[in-house]
Amino acid sequence: MPVRFAPQQGLHANISQHVHQCRRPRARRCNTVRQAHHVDEGTAEQVGQLLAENKALRLALSKLQGVQPQEVIFDVEAVAALEPVQQADADAPEDSARLEAGIAWPVPGESPPFWERPARTAPLQRGQRANGVGAVRDARRLHVVHMTAEMAPIAKVGGLGDVVTGLARACLLRGHTVEVMLPFYECLPKDQLEGLQHDCEFDCPKGRVTDGQMRTEGLRTLAFRAKIDGVPVVLLRPDWGAGNLFRGSRIYGGSYNELEAYLYFSRACLEYLSASGRKPDIIHVHEWQLSAVPMLYWDSFHAAGLSKARVMLTIHNMDNSGECRQEEFAHTGLPGELFASVDKALDERTVGHNPERLCLMKGGIVYSNAVTTVSPTYAREALDGGAAGWLRSTLARPEVRAKFQGVLNGIDTALWDPAVDHFLPAPYSAADPSGKALCKRYLQKGLGLEVDACKPVVACVTRLVPQKGIHLIRHAVYRTLELGGQFVLLGSGHADGDFRRMASEEFRGSPATALLVMYSEAAAHLIYAAADVVLVPSLFEPCGLTQLIALRYGALPVVRATGGLADTVHDVAKGGEDANGYTFTGVDEGSLNSALDRALTAFREQPQWWADLTQRNMLVDCSWERAAGAYVDIYNRLAAL
Ligand code: ADP
Repeated sequence: MPVRFAPQQGLHANISQHVHQCRRPRARRCNTVRQAHHVDEGTAEQVGQLLAENKALRLALSKLQGVQPQEVIFDVEAVAALEPVQQADADAPEDSARLEAGIAWPVPGESPPFWERPARTAPLQRGQRANGVGAVRDARRLHVVHMTAEMAPIAKVGGLGDVVTGLARACLLRGHTVEVMLPFYECLPKDQLEGLQHDCEFDCPKGRVTDGQMRTEGLRTLAFRAKIDGVPVVLLRPDWGAGNLFRGSRIYGGSYNELEAYLYFSRACLEYLSASGRKPDIIHVHEWQLSAVPMLYWDSFHAAGLSKARVMLTIHNMDNSGECRQEEFAHTGLPGELFASVDKALDERTVGHNPERLCLMKGGIVYSNAVTTVSPTYAREALDGGAAGWLRSTLARPEVRAKFQGVLNGIDTALWDPAVDHFLPAPYSAADPSGKALCKRYLQKGLGLEVDACKPVVACVTRLVPQKGIHLIRHAVYRTLELGGQFVLLGSGHADGDFRRMASEEFRGSPATALLVMYSEAAAHLIYAAADVVLVPSLFEPCGLTQLIALRYGALPVVRATGGLADTVHDVAKGGEDANGYTFTGVDEGSLNSALDRALTAFREQPQWWADLTQRNMLVDCSWERAAGAYVDIYNRLAAL
């Protein structure tokens, strides 16, 4: 059954309203979350009452849903641990004149570009990041170690980075011990690594080709500890000749051999756990880059003192599965031949070829205790459709099928919250959406678009790779203009050539089109806030986060109904409580038109309906607090094995 986000109505609405009200007295009185410990007696009593009501409502809801009630706490400690950030009176309506007067309005062509500087001359006392109040506290506390190539916001290329940070934060708030292991990329902004400190050093076995021969040597590896966005991280840096194995100015595509680097990193993560005496309950690895971990773990490390840990693999995208020659696997310090059979990690397409290759993702799937992907529909498409490609036969094995499932992503609603988003010139929320119009005007001015509230801004924030439906994005630019709208693209990736040309020639100085071919976290926030429509025309989409961010930022998603997009966007034409945007199914331009045209017509002809729907969407719970529960259930199941 497709998973649907339930709008917070009825009982949900009461709960959310109560939780929301709980924050008010505290927010009004405290400058930092840490000071929340010192709320006065009256406030504490009021909070206590509201929490008691909240608990009663949750119990009633659990009964209605026929599920076990969960403990809900007012977890000031957990919040304080995560959130040493300014907080202010989020819920008090801003004086609109003061709000507008403090905006540092941009001018087109500003250098450096306007998204790289503060949007306001007079900073606002923005609200707190809303994590943790009313967080579910799990009875059983687990120690979870993530191993990943990305982590938002400072080591992010796409959704993987968002997921790792969002899930880790949510699990911390639920009371678990969570650490994230990440390569110490040369390009990481060190000033954003909170409390960076040297932890330890150890020798990690690694294959290295010398005189044409692969030999295993000990590679000195330095471990550092820090926090990223409040989440504890361990950064591993190999002492590799003169520099870092993870060289270059980018996360991927830097000046290093990715396969070699991630094979080394997979081994180094396990060596670190062993060297530091950690005994996690769960090792949670992500994507092909870390798929060698379960293979190495069950082959060598399980016996060597880490026996408690169970290993889980999350596949965020099956498009890249980590092809690996057997001799290359020796970068882990173990011979690839160990895994070169069809029941293990051999890529069966290469059977009988010379040489026969391994597939890291296949090895990860076979050797992990649980395997998840990021939406139920994508999981089905992998099992029964073409999403997994040749890996479908691996997923079809009964023992693999039994441990494979789709868990829908959430978004980090603390990072993505227009009420407290520091990138925005004006905050807004479902309760007071007026700031969104200022955000739209701000972006229109800055990008040199015609400043007109009545023109729908259609936005697309995306990696520019074939998966994302490049030809449909290009078509949507022209279609939006035909329909009298404005198109804003923020995109980067290897298939960006066409858009670079369009930006520098055809649409140079256009009052209705801005094509920003680059990556910018700040620009992304501004664009979501200004957008009326967010377009996601992916050919396939494991989950997709931009449609969820769109909902939260009061823009209506127009998406191709595939993978997680089909799970999260429900067409208004079908009606129903969960209708929240526009969908189409074909991969042709006509199909896209069928959804985009309807959206832009509704924007123009039904402004009140549009405002109501966007407001309602902003209240839909697409947080990690909701999504993390499914992961915790899997962790618990594995820990009990
Ligand atoms: P994928 O992981 O396939 O790239 P998702 O929709 O899961 O797609 O996640 C994309 C994430 O990356 C979102 O947070 C989106 O805002 C961000 N993003 C994509 N392209 C850019 C860009 N050019 N600049 C800034 N952020 C981007």
